[in-house]
Amino acid sequence: MNEYDAIIVGGGPTGAYVAGKIAKKKYKVAILEKNKEIGVPINCAGLITPRVFDLLEIKKEPIIENNIKGANIHSPSGKILKIGGDKVHALAINRSKFDKELIKKAEENDVELILENNVISAHKVKEYIEIKTSKNYNFRCKLLIGADGPYSKVRDSFALPEPKEFLRGIGAEITNTNLDPDYVEIFVGKSIAPGFFAWIIPTNKKGTYARIGLCISQESPKSPKYYFSNFLKSKIPSDLIRNAKITNQYGGVIPIGALKKTFESNVLLVGDAAAQVKPTSGGGIYTGLICAEQCSNVSIDALQKNKFNSQYLKKYHKSWSVDIGRELYLGMKFRKIFKHFTDKQFDKYIEKFQSSKINQVISRYGDIDYPSKLIKPMLKKAPSLLRLLPTSLKD
Ligand SMILES: Cc1cc2nc3c(=O)[nH]c(=O)nc-3n(C[C@H](O)[C@H](O)[C@H](O)COP(=O)(O)OP(=O)(O)OC[C@H]3O[C@@H](n4cnc5c(N)ncnc54)[C@H](O)[C@@H]3O)c2cc1C
Repeated sequence: MNEYDAIIVGGGPTGAYVAGKIAKKKYKVAILEKNKEIGVPINCAGLITPRVFDLLEIKKEPIIENNIKGANIHSPSGKILKIGGDKVHALAINRSKFDKELIKKAEENDVELILENNVISAHKVKEYIEIKTSKNYNFRCKLLIGADGPYSKVRDSFALPEPKEFLRGIGAEITNTNLDPDYVEIFVGKSIAPGFFAWIIPTNKKGTYARIGLCISQESPKSPKYYFSNFLKSKIPSDLIRNAKITNQYGGVIPIGALKKTFESNVLLVGDAAAQVKPTSGGGIYTGLICAEQCSNVSIDALQKNKFNSQYLKKYHKSWSVDIGRELYLGMKFRKIFKHFTDKQFDKYIEKFQSSKINQVISRYGDIDYPSKLIKPMLKKAPSLLRLLPTSLKD
């Protein structure tokens, strides 16, 4: 039996972050990761806000591929809403290098990284958690942290609640594109990406490399592959990607609708495992890391006081809820409105937002991490939008 103070299942960004923080306080910490290499394979469009790097002590230069200043939002009939353009609003990153840097940081703090060990079971035995992996190794710890992504084994093992929805995503790297390197291209519409949207993100300063992809809601009638191949053939993006070549394709799911409970005796969940993801954009790196910070603080506290009961660990759930819970909750409410939009409605609102007054508000207050900041200023400029809001958001 290999014994640790804390074991983190999953070597993604949230797992690496939490592990490094706990190990820095001289606790014995291991990460169990099922893959044989960190950051491979990658299922991510790699778009984050610059504030992600404010949370981390890693070098950003080798990770950042391109600065993004704005977005062109394409309606189903081809109307374009141009927003931003004034400053750097987002960064296209090399996600593989990002994950590798975070793990390197954790290892510098003496985290033991144990690769190719798929956790197959975890349960409580007296005051410990015992874990078994696919290699038939047994591990034991006082505190188990599930940072094991959308289909968390830790979440299942302790019967914690499921995310509300699993969006289905698909994407690819492309070369030979003809993009404005400062702008991401977003496409909405029922036939393009039902329930979500499609994107093209320029990943170099010439606009000749990009990541292209889309996400759909889980009840969509066809597969992500079907919508993706239609999207590649569609008239709308063809000017931008007419001669493009696909170099690498990937797929994955995005869990949304944060869990109502993210703790159990001796157990915490963080990141995608807890669906701590923005429901409006599907981005989970920033929100996951915000929660990872809270998870590390409570874990260190619990280890110092040797208190691992569920009543004590509830502190974690409360603290991330105060930090980002409201934003995630409002995100689900917005998603509910957006999810049921018809193509006609998309066209109508994109046209309406093209007015310079509203556009200026979006450019000024729009924040990918905190989309709710837009509500008040938008309603001030266009009170007719109030009709769209559910009663619960009108106060
Ligand atoms: C198509 C797509 C595009 C996306 N684009 C963006 C974007 O542009 N910006 C953004 O912010 N977010 C994006 N996301 C979301 C983002 O990728 C996740 O929110 C983020 O990776 C969550 O980090 P995490 O550490 O919680 O989980 P993960 O990164 O999923 O890491 C979980 C780790 O746990 C390991 N694991 C799983 N099960 C086990 C097990 N049983 N035993 C051992 N190890 C296990 C996995 O191998 C993995 O390494 C996208 C997601 C998808 C699918």
